[in-house]
Amino acid sequence: MNKDTQVAIIGAGPVGLTLAIDLAQRGIDVLVIERGDEAAAGDAKCNTVSARTMEVFRRLGIAEVVRSAGLPDDYPTDAVFSTGFDGQELARIKLPSRKERMGPDGHSAPGFPDSDWLTPEPVVRVSQYFLNPILYQCAREFSEITLLSGVEFTGYEQGENEVDVLARVISTGEQLRVNAKYLVGCDGGRSTVRKQMGVSFLGDAQLGRTRSTLVRCPAIRQLYTGRPGWMNWIRNDKVSRICVAIDGDELWLLHRSVPADADDFTALDADQSIRDLLGVDEDFSWEVLKHVDWTARRLVAERFNSGRVFIEGDAAHIWIPMAGYGMNAGVADATNLAWMMAAVLNGYAPVDMLDAHQIERHPISEQVSRLAMNKALELAERPDTPEKILQINVPQFVCEGLNFGYFYDNSPLIVYDEESPPAYDMGSAQPSTVPGCRLPHFWIDSQTSIYDTLGPYYSLLQFRGNTIDAVFADAFENAGMPLTVLDVDADADYFKHKFLLVRSDQHICWRGNGLPDMTDLIAVVTGHNMP
Ligand SMILES: Cc1cc2nc3c(=O)[nH]c(=O)nc-3n(C[C@H](O)[C@H](O)[C@H](O)COP(=O)(O)OP(=O)(O)OC[C@H]3O[C@@H](n4cnc5c(N)ncnc54)[C@H](O)[C@@H]3O)c2cc1C
Repeated sequence: MNKDTQVAIIGAGPVGLTLAIDLAQRGIDVLVIERGDEAAAGDAKCNTVSARTMEVFRRLGIAEVVRSAGLPDDYPTDAVFSTGFDGQELARIKLPSRKERMGPDGHSAPGFPDSDWLTPEPVVRVSQYFLNPILYQCAREFSEITLLSGVEFTGYEQGENEVDVLARVISTGEQLRVNAKYLVGCDGGRSTVRKQMGVSFLGDAQLGRTRSTLVRCPAIRQLYTGRPGWMNWIRNDKVSRICVAIDGDELWLLHRSVPADADDFTALDADQSIRDLLGVDEDFSWEVLKHVDWTARRLVAERFNSGRVFIEGDAAHIWIPMAGYGMNAGVADATNLAWMMAAVLNGYAPVDMLDAHQIERHPISEQVSRLAMNKALELAERPDTPEKILQINVPQFVCEGLNFGYFYDNSPLIVYDEESPPAYDMGSAQPSTVPGCRLPHFWIDSQTSIYDTLGPYYSLLQFRGNTIDAVFADAFENAGMPLTVLDVDADADYFKHKFLLVRSDQHICWRGNGLPDMTDLIAVVTGHNMP
């Protein structure tokens, strides 16, 4: 069987599907190859859709449905640290249930540690188990997307202007050849695409092994007394691991560590470790739905593309899921690649523009991987006082820096000025309009974020009645790149410039108080000035 498409994506995990939807919304034809069965139970490993990912999902039109999935309305998302369900509670980071999350004005309600974040879309504690079906459902609505399940990618042949993707229908053995302009491997940590590119993972050795088991067990809910927790860290002399509420009722994800001196996962007593974690005896029973064995590492691919072949998400980087930032970093990759790839395929930008993807995203992957690994090392010191537990954990459960702090500071698509972006760490970030930073969110009216009004490629924001749009509109039209013009007002002191040029991924790529040299600006932002 032969097929043609503009972009072939391998893997219908959260990253592959987000990329497919983002490309399809820009009119690009996409074919997704997934070896799994769409109807099979989803993975429960990731349980946090970060605020930054929710901003992406808001643009894609699925934020509301994602926010309403998973835990019941009144189930809190607290992180609780205790010696056991029947033991002593040592510390609690109080985080809202869905009902508590939004105030009457539809914005984040006060009283929680992330209430004042500058975002229209606070974090959602929803499992991948519920997220993936939502992404599938959304993808199915696009005529531009073809989803092939039960098909395994086997290899590719790259030519100068196209890639032939080779795959096999698992049930029949039938061979498939897909002719595409680009191939993107979103095929997870063991990525066949990455291996076939000849690209290695580089990073740090393992920090321990974990088995994470998804169980059906309504009796766990009865172990809670008082306000339930979403993520329950339990440490006593037998165990030090986590029980996560998936649906707040009968589904739970139970993480248990393999003994530190063991060579592999067989050293873990699968059942006894669950009893130890829950503090229950032999009579307690559960049904195992799925498990995943994983090794805590920090690995980033040497490079994210080889010609027309790209890797994204876990295929490009894996690290210990501290702060819940594996999938979310992958969604950020997809967001970065989608608009650039669509600009190239739609003829708005030269092919070379795609080189900026690696230049922008690789350093961020390195930074996030190190922040996650450092957090794991801090936790390995086993904080045991409430003060120490909170000091180490608040930044990972309320990780404003990971969400909003990162910036692209060496991009060939950004016109920089003399000011440096503010530094960030896992828990904190400063809003800034320095080129490369994320445009700080502000409300246009009670329900409309500035993000809702940005165009699909570039937007010129004109503040406080100042105008340069006639010149910009001409220059962008001549360059063949779409431009949206927005007249806005925002009084925060970091909006000190009259004009901002913002990309659809919400990163600022120029700012000024008057007309720049338009020839230079257009050459840079449209990728005609690549190194
Ligand atoms: C215990 C645990 C907890 C985690 N918690 C969080 C969290 O809270 N927040 C967070 O952001 N991240 C978390 N993560 C990480 C997160 O789960 C991953 O980063 C995320 O799943 C990566 O998504 P992906 O789409 O890149 O890859 P995957 O989800 O791995 O999807 C890859 C897809 O590719 C398919 N595939 C693979 N090979 C082929 C082939 N040859 N042909 C066809 N299809 C193929 C697979 O079947 C799969 O569907 C956690 C991870 C673990 C292990």
